[in-house]
Amino acid sequence: MAVLEIRDLHVTVETDEGTTPILNGVNLTINSDETHAIMGPNGSGKSTLASTIAGHPKYTVTGGTITLDGEDVLEMSVDERARAGLFLAMQYPVEIPGVTVTNFLRTAKTAIDGEAPSIRTWTKDVKEGMANLRMDPKFAQRNVNEGFSGGEKKRHEILQLELLKPQIAILDETDSGLDVDALKIVSEGVNRAKENTGLGVLLITHYTRILRYIKPQFVHVMVKGKIAEEGGPELAERLENEGYAAYLPEGAPLE
Ligand code: ADP
Ligand code: MG
Ligand code: MG
Repeated sequence: MAVLEIRDLHVTVETDEGTTPILNGVNLTINSDETHAIMGPNGSGKSTLASTIAGHPKYTVTGGTITLDGEDVLEMSVDERARAGLFLAMQYPVEIPGVTVTNFLRTAKTAIDGEAPSIRTWTKDVKEGMANLRMDPKFAQRNVNEGFSGGEKKRHEILQLELLKPQIAILDETDSGLDVDALKIVSEGVNRAKENTGLGVLLITHYTRILRYIKPQFVHVMVKGKIAEEGGPELAERLENEGYAAYLPEGAPLE
């Protein structure tokens, strides 16, 4: 069991115009076994929240706290966050030239568990994980994210999720650029991780489509760096029909 608690979080970023506030007091609690969705218009700060939890150096926390089981996440290095049980799938995964998928996964697993996985079970787990996600076995020898299609990047993320067994996963726009078949495969992977390990999930998405496959119990709407409304699955349904116009000033550009 784990609990990620975000309290009154304020975050700024440095831009050409100087210090710009992006998050203006975000509150959120995610327990193991719970699935939360954060929805909201483009530019509302959803990815900033994910990057801040991940420890991205571009984002400065100017107020509030993030804790995992009471431990101060903001004091942790990026590696320590991963070892503590946080998993971040970024909206724009980075390429790691010269590092194959298989070596990357093994190194990550060893770093997180504090010991190398046993070769026999590990090889079997990787094979099984890749088969579940309908990945070509040749994929294991490719360099991480180099020339990966959108769908391959997402599958690789979910493969990490299934193998690394984090406590809380933050998935930022895992649905973007996926066709329906890939979306189903990726969602099944997340649902397997939920069933097998009691994973807590924070699903960040602009669209409701993925929520048909990964069912959230809690839905939060982020607008201008704050949670503007919270509810259950019915809130996502309403947004599917009505969009975000109600949260934005009249005449504001919609994406
Ligand atoms: P969302 O994920 O909801 O679309 P983001 O968190 O990506 O929103 O962005 C929120 C706001 O913060 C936007 O106005 C965006 O331009 C700005 N922003 C986010 N990251 C940066 C950055 N690294 N540099 C400058 N501005 C940023
Ligand atoms: Mg965006
Ligand atoms: Mg985003």
